[in-house]
Amino acid sequence: MTEIKDFIRRLPKAELHLHLEGTILPSTLVELSARHDARPLTLAEAEALYRFTDFTGFLEAFKAVTGQLIGAEDYELAAWRMIEHLAAQGIVHAEVFVSAGVFYHWSGHDSAVFEPIFAGLERARLRGERELGISLYWIFDAVRHFTVAEAERVFLEAAELRLAHPSIIGIGLGGDERRCGSAPFAALYEQAARAGLRLTNHAGETTGPEAIREALAIGSERIGHALSASHDFYLLQDLKEREIPLELNLTSNVRTGVCPSYAAHPLRRYFDQGLLVTLNSDDPAFFGSDLANEYLLAHTEQGFTRDELRQLAANSIRASFLPELQKTEWLFRIDAMK
Ligand SMILES: [Zn+2]
Repeated sequence: MTEIKDFIRRLPKAELHLHLEGTILPSTLVELSARHDARPLTLAEAEALYRFTDFTGFLEAFKAVTGQLIGAEDYELAAWRMIEHLAAQGIVHAEVFVSAGVFYHWSGHDSAVFEPIFAGLERARLRGERELGISLYWIFDAVRHFTVAEAERVFLEAAELRLAHPSIIGIGLGGDERRCGSAPFAALYEQAARAGLRLTNHAGETTGPEAIREALAIGSERIGHALSASHDFYLLQDLKEREIPLELNLTSNVRTGVCPSYAAHPLRRYFDQGLLVTLNSDDPAFFGSDLANEYLLAHTEQGFTRDELRQLAANSIRASFLPELQKTEWLFRIDAMK
């Protein structure tokens, strides 16, 4: 076991589906609460918050954690802790969702500006690049069950900030799929693509395959979760032929209850069918996991061999938004791994 763990750690990997807010550990939450609350959270209270049992409980915990991110220093602390942990797992590149939609929604002001906050994130990113040699892109995430106008604000902000900060690579839609699909955002996705932003989307996590088709119809380049594609043979064919990267999240799906067990997760089936699957950790602090552990679970729960784990790592680089030259370099290194 130590040997496979060591192999996984040394394997150059990219994490493509990771929410900054979901990387905040209870201990960091306590630290943030001490900055902001008259009666700061105790560690036991913070830990209790993470003990949800269903998808709705998860969304509530996510909301409480995001409520502790107020100033640039809070975002910088959260991002730096995240980056340190990524580097420790042998992750060489990450594309991280920042829930700008939640920030605007709960700040309660039309005049709230994300730019000073973003400066904190950039400080952490540049430090990570300098001190740990890890590259990072940001994906601005809107909440689909808020209004279309709110999503538009997030995407316009991404397009505007991107002019000075090319580290903002794309946009995404998260939130509750059961309350809102992708079709209402078609025009916004088109506009974002014209601004040079790459398009990601959560689809088919708590909804059926039609939600994935809808996400593809508005131009989504990568699909987060895509669990329900497993019920639709023709959709699987389409995903395969078009080489649409799927950002799968094993532990997340088991913990939120959308997938009954590790054994039942379609990761293995998708992989064997030749789909471009990647492994990710989604909200690792909430689910008591991380990317290295997800690779280990692929090995222990679904029998992925070293070569297959190597293939998953190669997929993560291929599915990233890195420039082609950098992709080639990482793929070469993965190939050379013993
Ligand atoms: Zn997610």
